Amino acid sequence: MNGGAEMSRPINRTALVTGSSRGIGRAIAERLGREGVLVAVHYARNEEAAEHTVKSIIADGGRAFQVRAEFGVPGDVDTLLEGLRAGLEELAEDVGLDILVNNAAIITSGTALEGTTPELFDRLMAVNARAPFFLTQRALPLLRDGGRIINISSGLTRFANPQEVAYAMSKAALEMIGLHFARYLGPRRITVNTVSPGITDTGHPSLLVPQIREALSNLAAFGRLAEPADIADVVAFLASDDARWITGSVIDASGGTMLGG
Ligand code: NAP
Repeated sequence: MNGGAEMSRPINRTALVTGSSRGIGRAIAERLGREGVLVAVHYARNEEAAEHTVKSIIADGGRAFQVRAEFGVPGDVDTLLEGLRAGLEELAEDVGLDILVNNAAIITSGTALEGTTPELFDRLMAVNARAPFFLTQRALPLLRDGGRIINISSGLTRFANPQEVAYAMSKAALEMIGLHFARYLGPRRITVNTVSPGITDTGHPSLLVPQIREALSNLAAFGRLAEPADIADVVAFLASDDARWITGSVIDASGGTMLGG
């Protein structure tokens, strides 16, 4: 008997993708939207970008709504869950979640190791580790059996860039959600996995500088930067029934960054 296939809910699934107004999160939301998943598009401040994501999903024949909640401020997870419930009550058959993608994060670069202040460290931890931990914990009653939790980490937990040690520490903490929640949620057939991208072209202005682009492209075995869709496709696989036997894993999606040679 193929338990996973029989018990999955291929239609009318719902997803919350945090930080899906822009970048990798937007690509994930759009990809899930194309598969018929009703997507909650979460963002912090950039309402216009969130609207853009929702409109592009709807234009592609999908269903989506936006939810605003800034992480790292008091009541952040309450605000998000309230907005999620309200959207699901309006648009879904019932208030349940099939897929949670913990993608939202603040990314630091260009901060000297010596220049990392306690304030910056605390903010990184609050947004990148504390918020997804409590969001995941508090979303458990909403998550249906057989569901999916996917955390977006970074290749920086595997290779060193001293400027980003505090950011990498926040991602290492995020990866622990994958390990420990996977064990806890196994009996409910909820899989919990981590995807670790390398440098991805999300429109950062520095990537328009040809020398910078070339140097960063050559870090990957494939000699190019990732496109957001390269990551979204991996997430879509983990969200699918085909990935039902994968849990507690960290999937490197860095195009073979810094493999050596
Ligand atoms: P991005 O383009 O900077 O977008 C960040 C998203 O997170 C936006 O939707 C933003 O919302 C939201 N966000 C930012 N601060 C927030 C806060 N305080 N509270 C709630 N939401 C917040 O990011 P990205 O480059 O696509 O990165 C997506 C994920 O991939 C992150 O987890 C990142 O660490 C990881 N990653 C990225 C790369 C890369 O090269 N880009 C490489 C490895 C890993 P607003 O639009 O409202 O600001």
